[in-house]
Amino acid sequence: MVVSLVRGEGRPVGVLALQGDFREHVELIRRLGAAPVEVRLPSELARVQGLVIPGGESTTMSILLETSGLLEPLRARLAAGMPVFGTCAGMILLATEILDGRPDQHHFGVIDISVRRNGFGRQRESFEDDLQVSGLGSALHAVFIRAPVVERAGPGVEVLAQLDGQPVLCRQGPCLVSTFHPELAGDPRLHELFLKNISHPYSQSSLTQRKENVRAF
Ligand code: GLN
Repeated sequence: MVVSLVRGEGRPVGVLALQGDFREHVELIRRLGAAPVEVRLPSELARVQGLVIPGGESTTMSILLETSGLLEPLRARLAAGMPVFGTCAGMILLATEILDGRPDQHHFGVIDISVRRNGFGRQRESFEDDLQVSGLGSALHAVFIRAPVVERAGPGVEVLAQLDGQPVLCRQGPCLVSTFHPELAGDPRLHELFLKNISHPYSQSSLTQRKENVRAF
């Protein structure tokens, strides 16, 4: 596979490390030449220029965000336009609407999607597939584990890949989300796309829209 890697240029890029498979993200970010920071404390969040929210369990992460004191600082950074990449549970936390969530589950409303937790059901609880992603040449191998289903994507959301007619990779301004785990297949191209948001910040108009979304929560 020929991959043109963006040079991360040693930029500090955070990976939320409260729970879930954060280590694989750290490794990919390192491979791309950025400086990964495991984020467990507000002081660590304050140092980073972008953040990956990994897969895991969104209800547990929601509780840990509160106990770690990260919830409000993270909300503020997201409202200020920090680039973010959420995979699986991370996508759930970034969505405007969670279906089948816990009623007290926190989420940030950074991307205008409605997501049903564990939406593929028991029959297809975990599976792998190859996806065509717009803008990427060859297919991307994707690992789905108790994945959420995007039941609605708002007009401002770009759907970059679909599976069985459902969005599985979406972007809105500097927020990229996937229902699957790109870090488990070891293909760095989506992390590269995310890092591009850090080197080329988004326009003020898309950030104003995000501020409004985040404020609504
Ligand atoms: N179903 C999990 C949740 O609700 C997400 C699964 C995953 O991240 N692999 O958070």
